[in-house]
Amino acid sequence: MKYLKFLVIAVVILFLAGVAGYFAWFHNPYEHTLQLDPVSVYGDRPEGFLLTNVNIVDVESGTLSEAQHLFVREGVIEDIFTGPIPDSLSNAYPVMDASGKFIMPALIDMHAHLNTGGLIPPDESGRLMALEQYARYGVGLVYTLGGHGFNQEVTRDLIQKQKNREIVAPLIYATGDIFTAPGGYPIEMISMMSGVSVDKIDLAEEGVIVVDDETDLVKLISIQKELGMNGIKVMVETGLGGGPEIPRLSTEIIRNIVEIASEQQLTVFAHVTRQADFEDAIDAGVHVIGHTVGDQLLTNADSYFDKMRENHIYYTPTLSIAYIPQYVATAEVLDDPFMLKYSSERTVRSLRSWLVRKLMLSMIEFDAESVLENMLQNFVLFHEAGVPVLMGADAGNPSVMPGYSAHRELEYMVAGGMSVTDALRSATIDPARFLGHEDRMGSIAEGKSASFLLLERNPLEDVRNTQTIERVMLEGYWLENK
Ligand SMILES: [Zn+2]
Repeated sequence: MKYLKFLVIAVVILFLAGVAGYFAWFHNPYEHTLQLDPVSVYGDRPEGFLLTNVNIVDVESGTLSEAQHLFVREGVIEDIFTGPIPDSLSNAYPVMDASGKFIMPALIDMHAHLNTGGLIPPDESGRLMALEQYARYGVGLVYTLGGHGFNQEVTRDLIQKQKNREIVAPLIYATGDIFTAPGGYPIEMISMMSGVSVDKIDLAEEGVIVVDDETDLVKLISIQKELGMNGIKVMVETGLGGGPEIPRLSTEIIRNIVEIASEQQLTVFAHVTRQADFEDAIDAGVHVIGHTVGDQLLTNADSYFDKMRENHIYYTPTLSIAYIPQYVATAEVLDDPFMLKYSSERTVRSLRSWLVRKLMLSMIEFDAESVLENMLQNFVLFHEAGVPVLMGADAGNPSVMPGYSAHRELEYMVAGGMSVTDALRSATIDPARFLGHEDRMGSIAEGKSASFLLLERNPLEDVRNTQTIERVMLEGYWLENK
């Protein structure tokens, strides 16, 4: 009996040591998993560069322009032409023959987060890993919508570092800290994930702003504007995926936020997962609906679809999050060479961990299968109703890998009935237009930024061919080790 007691104690101690060691291992901020060094990536951009005989994917028309020559100078596509190549160019600049290959514009992910997307708790090194991953997968711009474990000042610094080319990252657009009701989403979730009780969480550090009737919205929104943020994120959530009821901002407050934000040219993104919340967000006039309805199949939503079409309210479906429980349960992504190719080692290692996956699964409280089914079917309804769509994968969530998930999101949207051309547009020219930057991004055209994916196969034939990446160029820089 005594022996057994010792044995139990020994096992418990070993187990606790294992768990502690495990988390220490994931939290290790010194572990170097970045693959690209900014100095080498940005160090020697050739002044000019010639890509010859390449097939250009025209995302506007869904057609191919075959055997084109592309001359890039100082990060901009200066000339696209066919026929013989003048000696003046081929003698002066590096030439790369891309016969039989395809180029498409860099992707724009309109709903992203700066977390790893593996099962790693959020930390600073994870944000840099996430940014590098987006870039390596050919995402040229991410619109980040807040995140756990950091706030808008951190985001501002990252935006600055990207501009100064101190880090390897796509262009970063961002909302500031998220607006929610007292006790609203995701306060409970943060507590659960960090193990800190709700009343002890430093919400400002965590990037959450609690809004009530007394809050000075003008001041809060002005601060975000001054920090260089591009939008505001509001949580319109009365219970994730039909989970237990939680407090939510009133439609009136959301309407006020939209009004003040609009005056300051800030875009308002609404997080919704329930039909009633979705309807209130539309009534309040938000500019982008993030996620989709997951608690039920949409009923009598036609008037809301009409409003979205007429008022140009966009929709980022984030279908990838519907697959989180499935990914966590099976870690099926580990069989995908495309995931293994560009994701950080640390991300991959976290996904291999059965223990962490088990922990994650135990935290998923809703009926995951019906949420998945509802989200996919509601996507079909939105799409068939002609609601304008911007691709957004919600990367940075557990198992939603930065960059990788943008490609999977395209796949999911096409599986939901979207044409390949529409899916590609939603990730390139449509968001470029939405952001007012169609003159410099979103398609392969003269005068636009040299940000593109060089592919082995034609994505117009099969959207999964966006995953046949041979090389990625962002703003004239090849993203690879030299
Ligand atoms: Zn999100």
